[in-house]
Amino acid sequence: MARWDVVVIGAGLGGLTAGAILARAGHKVLVIERSNSVGGAASSYKSGDLFIEGSLQETSDPSHPRDPKHDALTRAGVLDAVKWIAAGSLYEARGGPLGAPFVMPDNFDAAKRALSERFPQARAGIHQLLDEMAAIASAAGARAQDGRDGSTLMNSPDWTLSLSQKLDAVFGDDEAVKCALAANLSYFHDDPATLWWMHFAVAQGSYLQSGGRFVQGGSQRLSSALARAIRAAGGEVLLRRVATGIALGADGRASAVTHTAKDGSDSQTVQCARVVGNAAPGALVALMPPAAADRLQASYANHAPSISLFAMTLGLNKPPREFGVSAYSTQLLPRQLRLLSDFPQGARLMAGEPGERMPPMSLVDFAAIDSGIPSPPHVLSVYGPDLLSNWDSSDMDAYREKRGRWQDAIVRYLDSLYPGLSQAVVASSFNTALSVRQYLNAPDGAVYGFAPTPPRSIGQAVDRSPRTPVPGLYLASAYAGFGGYSGVVQAGGACADMILREDS
Ligand SMILES: Cc1cc2nc3c(=O)[nH]c(=O)nc-3n(C[C@H](O)[C@H](O)[C@H](O)COP(=O)(O)OP(=O)(O)OC[C@H]3O[C@@H](n4cnc5c(N)ncnc54)[C@H](O)[C@@H]3O)c2cc1C
Repeated sequence: MARWDVVVIGAGLGGLTAGAILARAGHKVLVIERSNSVGGAASSYKSGDLFIEGSLQETSDPSHPRDPKHDALTRAGVLDAVKWIAAGSLYEARGGPLGAPFVMPDNFDAAKRALSERFPQARAGIHQLLDEMAAIASAAGARAQDGRDGSTLMNSPDWTLSLSQKLDAVFGDDEAVKCALAANLSYFHDDPATLWWMHFAVAQGSYLQSGGRFVQGGSQRLSSALARAIRAAGGEVLLRRVATGIALGADGRASAVTHTAKDGSDSQTVQCARVVGNAAPGALVALMPPAAADRLQASYANHAPSISLFAMTLGLNKPPREFGVSAYSTQLLPRQLRLLSDFPQGARLMAGEPGERMPPMSLVDFAAIDSGIPSPPHVLSVYGPDLLSNWDSSDMDAYREKRGRWQDAIVRYLDSLYPGLSQAVVASSFNTALSVRQYLNAPDGAVYGFAPTPPRSIGQAVDRSPRTPVPGLYLASAYAGFGGYSGVVQAGGACADMILREDS
């Protein structure tokens, strides 16, 4: 029977990052992935002529030394293996309480200037908030890089605040400035009242610290580069193989993984010293012997899953700018959104039939930058918050029909904002929270791991870690830290570090 130092279950970004660092550090690494290609959410593919980017709108620039991904991608050997293309301004926000569109620049100084010019009454608060955000993002980056002590951050009175609490304290009921600052909320969560201010400050602050980036040619290139790094270091990446069991040794440690072909045939078992779970904890529970499964499940019982996202890809016969799409990333705040606290209503809308109300959406025009995405058709992606509970999987025909009605309604809505756009659609695809569950085997349809809610008390450490209650089993995914490319790459790095430290 084959024996490995580490078996990684799942080839999403977190598993690939941990696998590449460990393989390059001399561990014998096997990655097992159920899909046809590596990457999980960080994948891009073609459907007919239509290029589909599975997830990446933008991430902060990993070349910046204080970026949360910098250290892990460097050690994984892929920092320079792909081209990180500048996405320009962070976003253009339109609608909601904003009036005229507002362009959020991609650096702190310009953001302060643009926000103060647009909202002069809030100038002092804008400067205060962005200065605090810069300090938090920089401190978090330093911690990610060299493990510097985070107690200054943990002892801050702001440690337990939600985004709403923080923005209310600084801006009161000035809803327009709050919505301008958090227009891309669904990059992180759906509800500002339960989104941890510190998480927002680190993530949004990282964008403003270094600027937004897209991987030229699509996120698949990053995932494939990580898989190549694993193979180049002597590891192996198996595709179309489903992990179906994790066995424990007599000492209670995870010690073997069974995997099969997709149809359940050709069962094989590999022995290992450690198992790294990139698949969601809920999926790992199903692989464990009962007592260990109970322990694993119980340890995450208090963690709610994050939101999901819908992703509609439109192939147009003309570039989106010809219809008035004027930025790479546009945050569309719906007409009914008047207050920052109205955001969470958007994620629940797809539970019902489409009507007057629309969820907040991010539009991404890949032709606006040197994205390397092939055209025609010209790709316009539309992302927005979604929940698994919005969709009923018991009748797949009914599901597909309702999804089609939402797709038509969203295209009509976009046409009302960008006249002529609906006539230009020549190809399309629409993934929902249910697609996320199916494609990624994420039982809750979550795309960011656990919901990024605030800790209950000042000084309480963040209770997310690669460590699990099952000896020899670790997490390297959004569930081991935070979601998004930065959070997941950092979690993969933290998982590899934990294993390397134990070995030494
Ligand atoms: C539509 C969308 C848009 C997004 N936009 C952005 C963005 O612009 N910027 C950003 O930073 N983040 C974005 N994200 C979030 C980001 O993509 C994710 O947080 C991140 O990629 C999750 O990575 P992961 O490694 O935790 O897991 P996943 O990507 O979920 O990978 C898990 C892998 O495990 C595999 N697996 C599961 N079970 C098994 C099994 N039994 N055997 C073998 N393999 C198994 C799955 O097939 C999958 O490949 C977006 C996500 C989505 C869906």
